Amino acid sequence: MQINEAEIGKRESFIKLVEELSGQNLFACYQCGRCSAGCPMVKKMELIPSMVMRLVQLGDEKVLDKNTYWICASCYTCDVRCPKGIDIAKVMEALRQIKLRKNMNYVDIRKIEGIEELPQIALISNFRKYTG
Ligand code: SF4
Ligand code: SF4
Repeated sequence: MQINEAEIGKRESFIKLVEELSGQNLFACYQCGRCSAGCPMVKKMELIPSMVMRLVQLGDEKVLDKNTYWICASCYTCDVRCPKGIDIAKVMEALRQIKLRKNMNYVDIRKIEGIEELPQIALISNFRKYTG
C-alpha cells in the first residue's frame, strides 16, 4: 500500500496523540505477544492487545473501530508481563479518550434495559468508562 504525505502526517499526529495521552513510548514494543498471552479479556477482543500496539505504532486509526480498548478491564496483567515496561492499559485508556472526545459514546444510557434495577456504583463506573 502506498501512503502519501498527507496520510503520513495524519498517522504521525495520531501516534503523537496516543503517546501524549498514555505517557508511553509506543515504539518500545517489539511484538513479543506476552501482553496478549496473559490478557483475561482476549477472547472478547476483535484485536489482541499486541495487535493494538502494532496498529498504534503504525498510526493506523482503524484501531479505533475495534472493540479492544472498550473491552479492556484495566487489570494491568499485560503491564506486569511486558518485558519493555509498557503500560498497555494506559494506551487503551488513551484510545478511549480519543474516541470519547469525538463525542462517540460506547454505551447509550437510554438503551440500557432495567436501568433502575442496576447498582448505582456499577452505573457510575460504566458511565465514566464508556461515555464522554
Ligand atoms: S489491562 Fe486490558 S489489555 Fe491488559 S491484560 Fe488487562 S484486560 Fe487485557
Ligand atoms: S508485552 Fe510489551 S513488548 Fe510484548 S507485545 Fe505486548 S506491549 Fe509489546
